[in-house]
Parts: sequence; structure tokens; C-alpha cells
Amino acid sequence: MSNWKATKIELNTRIKSVAGLPNRSLVRNAWQMSTDEFWNYQATAFKSLYEFARNRVPFYQKNLNDYPLLSSGDDNVLEILSQFPVLLKQTLRANNSDFLPSPLLPLTMFHTTSGTSGTPIRLSETIWEKGFYQAINEELFLRICGNRYPRTLYLTGFMTPSHNSEELCWRDLLFGNVALSIYSLNSRNRDGIIQLINNLKPQIIWGYASAVHQLAVLLGDRTLRSKDQCVAVVTSETLQPDWRADIENVICRKLFNYYSSQEGCHLAVECPFGQMHINPLMGVIEILDEYDRPVKKGELGRVVVTGLLRKSMPLIRYELGDAAESTGYVSDCSCGLKWPIIAQIEGRLENLVKTRDGRRIGMLGYSVLKDLPGVKESQIVQVGYEKFICNIVKFEADSVETEYLEKLIRDQLIKRLQTNVQIEFRYLSSIPRRGSRAKFSAVVVDFEDKDIPNHREAIV
Ligand SMILES: [Zn+2]
Repeated sequence: MSNWKATKIELNTRIKSVAGLPNRSLVRNAWQMSTDEFWNYQATAFKSLYEFARNRVPFYQKNLNDYPLLSSGDDNVLEILSQFPVLLKQTLRANNSDFLPSPLLPLTMFHTTSGTSGTPIRLSETIWEKGFYQAINEELFLRICGNRYPRTLYLTGFMTPSHNSEELCWRDLLFGNVALSIYSLNSRNRDGIIQLINNLKPQIIWGYASAVHQLAVLLGDRTLRSKDQCVAVVTSETLQPDWRADIENVICRKLFNYYSSQEGCHLAVECPFGQMHINPLMGVIEILDEYDRPVKKGELGRVVVTGLLRKSMPLIRYELGDAAESTGYVSDCSCGLKWPIIAQIEGRLENLVKTRDGRRIGMLGYSVLKDLPGVKESQIVQVGYEKFICNIVKFEADSVETEYLEKLIRDQLIKRLQTNVQIEFRYLSSIPRRGSRAKFSAVVVDFEDKDIPNHREAIV
């Protein structure tokens, strides 16, 4: 049964691939775009989407004051966008069906978000839009591993073998790809997983950054046989800086960070030189301050995206809830690709620790929790401005002194926050994952701030 499910997913991929055929040459040629061509493409695609939204999509039709006719001279997409309000997730959630064109586009399909925070959002996509996105991914696969349909190991939280079952993974019977449950990544299954991967010889290992890292940690000194032919693509979460080396030492020749979201309004993918290039076809990425203005180069801001590909649900200046650092759209990367670059993605804004004076502090997971002796996994939960819970999972055999460990963490946290803190340490056998998709967060902020004047970002 389960193998059939995996096969069904792969069959869907092949259908999307066929639907994407008409876009293949555009997708391929996009890689040759100059920076001017990049911006021209985005402006033209946006104008077309905008006209459609004003004519066919109730939310925009009801708010024409906010979404006026464009003047003919406008051709800088960032300037055009700057006149529109930022669209919040709450607004989309509260007016969900108003974002669907009326009448619906042919062959529209629906998908509901996992809803790790709050009510899920119903998203729509036509088969042609799915095909376009598939073509974009296939072109990427061609470039990073020489194959449009690479043999793939997915690390997934969707696939959860029943408790009494011995099965580690689901294999699609037609194409041979394997979905390995992230809940199977434990020492009991280590030998089985090594054997599985050595037999599969994957060209891509695909999953959440934390899951791919967990696989690398689990394998330890057992380098995979397929390592030199394999790349890892990590998604959905912030890649902690020390994870990369662990992953590239054990499971792949190169790791690529892949930044997108379920709403399908943007994509930035890492190049061989480690820069995150914005894909021109998917969407516009803006990085804004608290007044909705672009942050300066080198500063951290809120990620706001405008999808260019999905007329089935046009989202204009949609705030994702992520924070990222701006490069001011530099595009002079040594890899030769002229698509502008965004810098470090800090992940969910909600995972940046808040201070009483209004600062938001990122990378605490990295600066406080990395390289802790004897610790397998750890997490900081902020429950008040100066109140934290620290969840710790120790390696079974290890016997590092608790007192020493707690002092290390406390000292680092005080140093980073520049204030005294109260920490409750909890020793667990595993860190609880939130939501059905089991995203791991090294830092969780779990309280409401009442009177923070603004979001002054401070990264230490
Ligand atoms: Zn590059």
C-alpha cells in the first residue's frame, strides 16, 4: 500500500513534468539572463499578473484604492510594488476565498497548508502552474546533478510507518525513489539506513535541513558510498552554519540550500559559490524594515514576496514571516549567474528571541547551542523576556557533567542577550516537534510581547 502511495507521488511528478514542457525553454534561457533582463522579466510578469488580479480576483477588486491602475511609465518592479500595502497572512486567512479568481482557472487544484501556526490556508494551483514549477526544479536538477529525474532519497515527516511495522521507508515501484521517515532516523535503524542508501545510490537527498543533518549525525564516521555522486538539497528551515560541514563530510559532495514556501511565490537557490540567487520566474523577493521600506545592504528585514507564476491565487507583497539579510540585490557572483542575491536567511521571525527593549536576536541556536559536549540535540524556548526553557537530549553513552553544560549555555545566552536570564533545563529523550510536518526549531519563542515599540533587528 505505502509503496503504491510513493509511486502515486512520482506519477504526479511525471504528469507535472509533461505539463511543464511548454515552459522548458523559458526556464532554461532564464539562466542566461543579464541582471537587466532579470528585472525586466519581473516587471513584465508582474504587470500581467496585476492586471489579472484587478480584473478577476475579488480581494483586489474590492480594494481598488490600494491597488490602482499603474501609470504607463512604471517599469521598475520594486518601485511599482512599493506603493502597495504588505499583505499579512492573517488577511489571506480571513479572506481566503477572495484570493481565488472568479471564475476559477481551468484545472485548478487545492492544497491546504500544514498550519503549524493557526488556521491552515487553502492554496490553489493549476496543473500548468505546477508544471511550470516542475520545469524550474528539473532545470535545477540538471545543473546540480546532471539529470532531470535524479534518483532521490526524500527525508519526510509525511511518511510515518505504523509503530509495529518494521518498514523504514516507502519505495516507489516505477522509478525507484525512496521516502525515508524522519522518525526512523535513530541508532536502532542505523545499519538498515546505511544499507538502504548504499543500495539506492541517490543522486539527491532532499529534506528539511535538520533532518538531513540528523542523518549525517546518525551516520557518523560511516561515509556513504554514493557520496561523490550525491548532492543534498535542504529546505524549509534555517541551515545552521555548523550543519553544512557535518552533511558534506558524510552524505554528499555538495549541499544546496533551497528557499521557497508552500505559497509558491518565490524561490532562491544556492549556487556552487554559496550565494542564494533569486529565481526570476517564481517571484519578487523584497526585504523590508518595520515601515515597509527596503532595508539597507547588510541589514536584516522581513521577507515579503510577490508571486509571478500563480494566477490561480495572486499574492502581492505577501509577508512570509521570515527574516533575511539584504545584499541590496547584488548580482556579481563568481558563479556567473546574474540573478540578484539575498544573504543569510534567518528563518522564522517568530523564532528570533525578543528582548525587553525591542531587539530581535537571531542565530541563538547556533551561537549558544553549537558544539555542546555530549549533547545530541538541543533547543531554547523563550517563555518570557528573561525566562527560558532549555531542552536537551544527551547522547546515550555520554556522561558530561550537567552542571558544566548548564553553565556553558547560561554564559552564552547572557553574553548574547546582554541581560541576566533565568533558565530551566529539561533533559528529554527527544525534542518535541511542532505540527504534523515535524519541523525542528532550535529556537522557539513562546510568549506574547505586549508593548514592543517596533522591531529593531539586532543580530549578534
Ligand atoms: Zn552564484
